[in-house]
Amino acid sequence: DAKDLGGNRLAFFSPHMTEVLTERLRVEAGLRHAIEHGGLRLHYQPIMDARTGQVSSVEALVRWADPERGLVSPLQFIGIAEDTGLIVPLGEWVLNEACAQARRWLDAGWGEIPVAVNLSARQFQEPDLDRVVDRALQRTGCPSHLLQLEITESSIMEPVEQALQTMQRLTSLGVQLAIDDFGTGYSSLSQLKRFPVRKLKIDRSFVNDLGSNDRGEALVDAIVALAQKLGLRTVAEGVETEHQAQWLARLGCDELQGYLFSQPCAPQDLENWWQGRVAGSPVGITRGSAAP
Ligand code: C2E
Ligand code: MG
Ligand code: MG
Ligand code: MG
Repeated sequence: DAKDLGGNRLAFFSPHMTEVLTERLRVEAGLRHAIEHGGLRLHYQPIMDARTGQVSSVEALVRWADPERGLVSPLQFIGIAEDTGLIVPLGEWVLNEACAQARRWLDAGWGEIPVAVNLSARQFQEPDLDRVVDRALQRTGCPSHLLQLEITESSIMEPVEQALQTMQRLTSLGVQLAIDDFGTGYSSLSQLKRFPVRKLKIDRSFVNDLGSNDRGEALVDAIVALAQKLGLRTVAEGVETEHQAQWLARLGCDELQGYLFSQPCAPQDLENWWQGRVAGSPVGITRGSAAP
């Protein structure tokens, strides 16, 4: 409380703090309303197989369709959702919607398209996460092998034994796990081999450094080598240039994701993108121009 800050109570009533708090309360109220009244959207970004050039999966990324501000980026509300606990109902909505979409693509004849869903640290710590995931799969009829869950390094840090159990309960449902933003956290490399994960997603910052400095190449090279030793697949995030894509493929990175291929977009736009490449099916797609 205020006394802990040396009794400087004024700090709590500065106009700036009031503004920040007011804004947070506004976001919280708006977000709560959006969760309950259909104000959230999922966009999907394709992830390409570096070897074949085919789409290997898509990542679901949440947006908030705010009547005044338009589509709001998750960077502007996921943190607040975590602090307020709204991440729990929000995360459940995302899981349900992503599973429902995978099922719709299956039913519409697009084939089996694995969908990756991001989990926040707070969701990962919810004791009934596996039941929430299972319920989403059952309710939507999404085959469990089509659901991938992305967990950041920081959420699996402590306590490691508990994280391990959570991951085991999830994989026993048949879903696959990936570590997101790999290289930016502090996950212990010695623990990594104990985790039942299938993929490491190499953070965008390293991909960005490729070709502009040696550090980038050394780090990507090291992560790919480590992953190969552990039998894990690697996905590079934030691939924006053909040059980066070639570099990553040469370093042995398995999958590529970024604006070079497509921005995250609404399901209908993604379907148009698929259609525009090879008539009818996302299978057999090769690299081309970015979607709108
Ligand atoms: P992330 O999981 O690492 O997702 C990748 C982010 O990089 C996405 O940002 C994507 O639009 C962006 N991106 C993809 N390709 C490129 C590229 O070539 N260049 C650049 N500059 N950026 C690229 P987005 O959609 O703004 O999401 C940001 C973060 O918000 C995500 O990072 C994830 O941590 C979080 N997030 C998004 N959706 C959800 C969700 O449903 N639940 C939770 N818990 N977190 C989410
Ligand atoms: Mg992700
Ligand atoms: Mg990421
Ligand atoms: Mg990231």
